[in-house]
Amino acid sequence: MPCFFCQRNVKEIDFKEAQLLRNFISSSGKIKAKKRTGVCSSHQRKLTKAIERARFLAILSPSGK
Ligand SMILES: [Zn+2]
Repeated sequence: MPCFFCQRNVKEIDFKEAQLLRNFISSSGKIKAKKRTGVCSSHQRKLTKAIERARFLAILSPSGK
């Protein structure tokens, strides 16, 4: 099955989409493993970058809440 982002034909993950990014952060504030979310490797990389950037810009808090 194609990953969440492949399905939607997402090329770049927008770090401003806090709502979306939160779906990929566990309750402990960690980025969920791609094994759990089914995100492919290339999108997982982009997702990690987007989340890090969102945290840096305080769009997401460090815990992801
Ligand atoms: Zn993908």
